[in-house]
Amino acid sequence: MSILLKNVSLDNQITDVFISENKFKKIAPNQNVNADKVIDCSHFAILPAFYNCHSHAPMSIFRGISDDKNLFDWLNNDIWPREAKLTDEMIYTATKFSIMEMIKTGTVFFSDMYFGMQPLLKAVADMGVRAALSFGACDLFNSDKCKVEIEKINDFLGTQNPNSELIQKVLAIHAVYTVSPELIEFNVNLAKEHNMRLHIHACETKKEVDDCIAKYGLTPIAFFDKHNALSDKTTLAHSVWLDDNDIKILADKGVWLCTNPSSNFKLCSGMFMLQKLLDSGCNITLGTDGMASNNELSMLSEMKLCALAAKIQSQNPTAGSDEDVFKIATANGAKSFGIDAGEIKEGKLADCILVNLYNHFLVPNYNLISNMVYSADSSAIDTVICNGKILMQNHHIDGEEELTDEMKNLSNLFR
Ligand SMILES: [Zn+2]
Repeated sequence: MSILLKNVSLDNQITDVFISENKFKKIAPNQNVNADKVIDCSHFAILPAFYNCHSHAPMSIFRGISDDKNLFDWLNNDIWPREAKLTDEMIYTATKFSIMEMIKTGTVFFSDMYFGMQPLLKAVADMGVRAALSFGACDLFNSDKCKVEIEKINDFLGTQNPNSELIQKVLAIHAVYTVSPELIEFNVNLAKEHNMRLHIHACETKKEVDDCIAKYGLTPIAFFDKHNALSDKTTLAHSVWLDDNDIKILADKGVWLCTNPSSNFKLCSGMFMLQKLLDSGCNITLGTDGMASNNELSMLSEMKLCALAAKIQSQNPTAGSDEDVFKIATANGAKSFGIDAGEIKEGKLADCILVNLYNHFLVPNYNLISNMVYSADSSAIDTVICNGKILMQNHHIDGEEELTDEMKNLSNLFR
């Protein structure tokens, strides 16, 4: 499959972009090449697509089911009892529905932590996006449950990957307050043995940090470091409550910190220190978290909140610039999971979005990146391409009406 994007705006220059196989083959004006598909892009600009580095995709089934609670009340009383009732069919449909929303908002990759890995893998493969999937093992410090979780992790590793070109398996440590040191060490050793990435919730709330210091005499960062869980192949979701020693460890080890502003605001967890962490040399990515704590999966909304939060948190309006935040949501996200994409350059994997320059959110267009971070919503995104394949065109995804009906029916059953 090859695609020729004719007369597209790239960095304010009109050019043609030729996509062949799964890469940007040639970027130059006035190309006369034979392509399977030619798209007139005279109204469009091309931009990198988004990489959502922390989510729980099946949780779309819980959108709006429990709002306005604190984290531990929300988890213990509303979310965990309902999650225990989820079936494979629910996980499959809810994951596809989440991916549909991600594509609609320009996202081509998500890093997920959940359970029900077989339906999750199938949903990702059927929707044609990239993903890094991890089983969110948590033993709640019960040694019998620890053994069961280890079996489930081994099952996940043994499950066939339906599209290893787009999907990578990742190991997860749910959090310091849900996972025993034994299970943490099992995951860390397995990750080393198989050269896999680690995905961890860390330092989300002040309570988590205080409890960890009381229990282990260490901050969660120092604790994970002691257990060799921190490297440039580790993504820490949230990372709100960090002290200076934590920040030094994180910068030295090249750990990826994934900020989730909507979720942190909604659960009142705190504010990510974006500018301080950037200035300290930390690696940063962006994610939506699950739909039950967001309640949408739009990286556009997340970019705006990320930029605004950085300003309020540091009391400095120059903090969290549009350029920094856009890079965090695109190139950084791809890099953190070893995906050679996130930029519109020859030789890179062909992941991109086409935005409609006649959409009112993008007018006037003095600075397209500013418009994407501060004003655009999903209506500005016309086309989404992942790995050289069109996932959405004219803001329409094949099968979206049927999938929406399925999700409505499923949520009626679940009520
Ligand atoms: Zn999360």
